[in-house]
Formats: sequence, C-alpha cells, structure tokens
Amino acid sequence: MGLTAVAAYVVGGGPPPGGLGLVPLDIQQVRPSAIVVPGLIVADARGEPLLSGEDDLRSDPGRGGGPLTGPTLDAGARAFALTNVAACARRLLDRVEAELDTTLPPLRILVGCHEVGPQRWGGGHYRLPASSYSELPEVAPVDPAGEVHLGSGRLYVEHAGSRYLHAPGHNVAVVTHEVAHHVCRHVADFRLNRLRPPQDQTNRRTAVEEGTCDYLAAAMLGHPDIYGWHRGHIPLSDPRRRCLASHRTMTDFRGGHDADPHADGSIWASALWDARSHADRAGHPAESVDGVLLRGLARLGQDDTNDRGPEARRARKYYGTLLSAMLEVSRDDALTAHLEGVMSARGIYAGWSNARAREAARRCA
Ligand SMILES: [Zn+2]
Repeated sequence: MGLTAVAAYVVGGGPPPGGLGLVPLDIQQVRPSAIVVPGLIVADARGEPLLSGEDDLRSDPGRGGGPLTGPTLDAGARAFALTNVAACARRLLDRVEAELDTTLPPLRILVGCHEVGPQRWGGGHYRLPASSYSELPEVAPVDPAGEVHLGSGRLYVEHAGSRYLHAPGHNVAVVTHEVAHHVCRHVADFRLNRLRPPQDQTNRRTAVEEGTCDYLAAAMLGHPDIYGWHRGHIPLSDPRRRCLASHRTMTDFRGGHDADPHADGSIWASALWDARSHADRAGHPAESVDGVLLRGLARLGQDDTNDRGPEARRARKYYGTLLSAMLEVSRDDALTAHLEGVMSARGIYAGWSNARAREAARRCA
C-alpha cells in the first residue's frame, strides 16, 4: 500500500489530545483488525473487523467511542486508535532509529486488552514474557521482543465541551510512554533482561526508566504537561500529575520497593526537561538533549557484563549512572557543562547512587 495519509492526533506544543490531522504512514498491510507498518503491528485485541477499506484509515475519533456513543462511532473510534497508535509509535521509533542508526526488534501493540466481561481497562503497559505478572495476567503468550497493551478506556474526560471516553490509544502521551519502554528494553536494558531466559523476563521498572519514558513522551509532544488531558484535575505540582515543569529535586526522592517509580522518575524527567528547555544557553537546539539521552541509553546498553548480580543491577537504577553515560557520549563541552549544571541543581551527580544524592540534597535543604 505504501505511504498513506492516516488519521491521528497531532500535538503541536500542547498537552494531548492536540488537533485531528492526517499523517503519512508507510502501510505494509491492512488486515481486518490490524495494520502493519515497518517494525510495528497494531491490532485490536477484540478481533472484530474494523478496517474494510482505505477510508477506515481516516476514521473519526468518535469522542473515544465506548458504549455510550453507539456501535458506528465506537467502531470508528477503534479504527482511529489503530492509526493514531501506529503514527505516534512510529514517530518515536523513527527518532530513535535515526539517532542510533539501528533498527529495534519489531513491536506488537494490542488495543482493547485486559477486558473481563463488561469490566473495561483504562490503562496501558509494556509487557515482556514472565513466569507471573503482578496484575492483569496474560491469557495469550507475550512476544519475547515485548508488547504494548492498551485498554479500551474506562473514564470520561472533557474535550471540546463534551464527554470523551479516555481511550489510551487516543492519547499520544500514553502511547509514546509505553513505546519508550520498548526503546529502554532494547537500547539501555536497565534490568539486564538480555541475561534472563526469554520467557522469564522482569517487568519491574525502575524510576530512571519511568522518568526516561515520560521525558521521551514530552520531547515528542514538545510540552511538559504530558498527562494534562486526563489528569487535569490533579494539581500541577502533585507528583501524580507527572508534569515535567516541576521543581522537585533529589530531596523529594523516595526510593525503595513501596515508592512509585513514576513519581520518583518525574525528578529525572523534570531535570532532563530543564536541560532541554534551556539548551539554547549552551548554543544548542532543544533536540540535542534528546540525542544525548538516546546515545547515553545506548552507551548503557553496550555494557558487556555477564553478571546480573545485585550490584550490577543496582547501579543501573541510579540517575548518576545514566548521567555518566550521557556525559561520556556528549560531543560538545558547552552541552556537557549545561547538563552537569542543570542536573546538579536537582541534586543529581554523575556516578552517584540515588541514596547518596538524596542524603546530600536533604543535608543542604
Ligand atoms: Zn511506564
């Protein structure tokens, strides 16, 4: 089929949903409930036919679909989710693959997962095959290269003055965050999953990974309030909003098993966002920070250790470890100094453990 204009939300420097637009996508195949593009298959997990012709690739978002909109709008909303997800996934993957001159393993994205009877799911996650899952068990085998699963939406939000079902596949930030986990798994491999059996991977994510995924979502959106559409009721300063324009520092870092890695990760994401927003002070465009981050992730992934002992795994959780890798691959002294300055203002230093950074920051506070 080749290059085809498909419907997707285009976010122009604001939070989702952005404006409805047409995005060119290299379509390899259209199946009744899936589209195949290079390195990516996006399928509706419920299997009902949604795509019968090219027009269905330009479906109306139908206010997110769902039981209240009626079957026609709901089918359109599901078809829209497929093209929207493919367009924003491909956007991040294109950026990563161009920067690193590599091709990531193919990614499968399933929309409308984890529905039990009338019980709908409003979330998204990145899954690797594991012997057990902490929540939402899998009924079908998970691709060893990893899969993104998105629910069909459970809660309603406001959009253009009317109710809109928050379908995760309609939200560019949610999709980009989950696809970024695929980038983390195959580029940085924070958890050294490559040393584990393919069917017994870990799905536990660290704060540095969650923060990196939020940052990549913000970089693709060009805006820090990535979850402003569906979390607009949460104050901007609340860590649960995960707005990257926050002033949180390592004094706010919790760490440990009962801390939410997303909330802790927002410290790292916000520090990177700071660096991006002020990159011009170092004479660089904002995107240069994205480039150093991606090359830093690749540097971390080149670690040829065969040891996945506690020490090796622990060091890969530290913001200071990824910062070291980024400074190593930075090609410009002014950019390096800029990154160090922005990070130290948050209490983050190359090579430091998170606990050391937190204790030092709290002593100074
Ligand atoms: Zn995540």
